Amino acid sequence: MDFNDTPEEAAFRAEARAWLEANAELADPHETTRNLLSEREDPATIAEAQAWQKKKAAAGWTCITWPKQHGGRGGTPIQQVIWNQEEAKFKTPPNIFAIGLGMLGPTILTHGTEDQIARYIPKMVEGSEIWCQLFSEPGAGSDLAALRMSATRDGDDWSLNGQKIWTTGAQFSRWGMIVTRTDPNVSKHAGLTYFIVDMKSPGIEIRPIRQINGGSGFNEVFFNDVRVPDGNRVGAVGDGWKVAITTLMHERASIGSGSGRGTFKDLLRLARETQIGGRPALEDSTVRQKLADFYIAQRGLQYTSYRTLTALSRGQTPGPEASIGKLVGAPLNQQMASFACDLQGATGALSDPAAAPQEAAWQDQFVSAPGLRLAGGTDEILRNIIAERVLRLPPEPRLDKDVAFRDVPTGPANA
Ligand SMILES: Cc1cc2nc3c(=O)[nH]c(=O)nc-3n(C[C@H](O)[C@H](O)[C@H](O)COP(=O)(O)OP(=O)(O)OC[C@H]3O[C@@H](n4cnc5c(N)ncnc54)[C@H](O)[C@@H]3O)c2cc1C
Repeated sequence: MDFNDTPEEAAFRAEARAWLEANAELADPHETTRNLLSEREDPATIAEAQAWQKKKAAAGWTCITWPKQHGGRGGTPIQQVIWNQEEAKFKTPPNIFAIGLGMLGPTILTHGTEDQIARYIPKMVEGSEIWCQLFSEPGAGSDLAALRMSATRDGDDWSLNGQKIWTTGAQFSRWGMIVTRTDPNVSKHAGLTYFIVDMKSPGIEIRPIRQINGGSGFNEVFFNDVRVPDGNRVGAVGDGWKVAITTLMHERASIGSGSGRGTFKDLLRLARETQIGGRPALEDSTVRQKLADFYIAQRGLQYTSYRTLTALSRGQTPGPEASIGKLVGAPLNQQMASFACDLQGATGALSDPAAAPQEAAWQDQFVSAPGLRLAGGTDEILRNIIAERVLRLPPEPRLDKDVAFRDVPTGPANA
């Protein structure tokens, strides 16, 4: 493992830094950036994020690893990481394009037709069209292949009926990517087909879900005879699982790279500025012990992520062990936020940015963090992945693997 930039990486970092200095304002490391998870769907935030994305795209600083002909920079994964590190030092709007650019764009580039690539990718890269991922359903989350959204062929179109849920950003997305069941007579993974869906289509009803953090980041989306042209199919009929796996592999990689916003530095500053018994909390031995635990866990995560970076730097693909980052990082965000709220005493219960330290960012993280332990694979599913694919322990029994989907028991009524 080598932690230093190679001469080429250092030159790339300097170039990125120079562009950022000319186009954005450096963030004050002693100031918490107001970039709350609960405010991402605010129209002003979306407009600001789109303007920043457009500026980056015009200068070739988005999608660093994508081929130049598709709006990327033709760079390496390590260059993408360097760009992310440098951009994080500047005051920039939240990245609301992660689902499109991190997961759906790569899926279209891998499985899409030339027409689909030409129509959708440029607008996705410049941020003028936002995308959402319509995978989860009330009865299909961890077990995604159990989904029931039906797609029936009707002339040149397909008719979609059913319900999706937890669809992040559906309310402001122009396009969505959806997995449907086109054949219930074969086993559950074999009967799926993947489509691009126009979110403005008649028959789509989007109901935002109010969350505990005050925001409505995700939605229920109902489909009632929604017509999707066959030209919007991605991959062959019945090949939807293969296409969805491409999306999911990119999802885990992008979420695994860390989504929490409270840093150890912010927590340390809070402990300096908060008092216990008239003395800075930082002087309290229990507080110091807790801070030491968090510091050790964060450093452990950082060095584990360097393993992934080293693999990327050598042109290798990181394996399922990258799941460790999310499995440890997401609960750590939650524990740090809980501790930060405790440190604030009664103020810890106030979510008003004007009343609580650091603009109530820790309160926001406290109520948002549990969701990050579910999104993109729950803690238990990540443990299963590590057990089966890293430690090579025996797999879970999968009784529905070779059964036609319509014959899979769904509850007492069918038992
Ligand atoms: C913030 C957020 C954003 C999201 N955004 C999107 C989005 O944009 N698009 C989208 O399609 N989905 C989205 N999701 C949904 C997310 O993918 C699912 O919540 C997740 O896959 C879990 O599915 P589920 O909620 O149906 O829980 P279930 O799968 O019903 O799980 C319930 C519980 O059972 C446990 N469990 C399930 N199976 C096993 C097993 N085999 N072994 C051990 N334990 C098990 C789980 O760990 C969990 O604790 C989002 C979720 C969140 C929280």
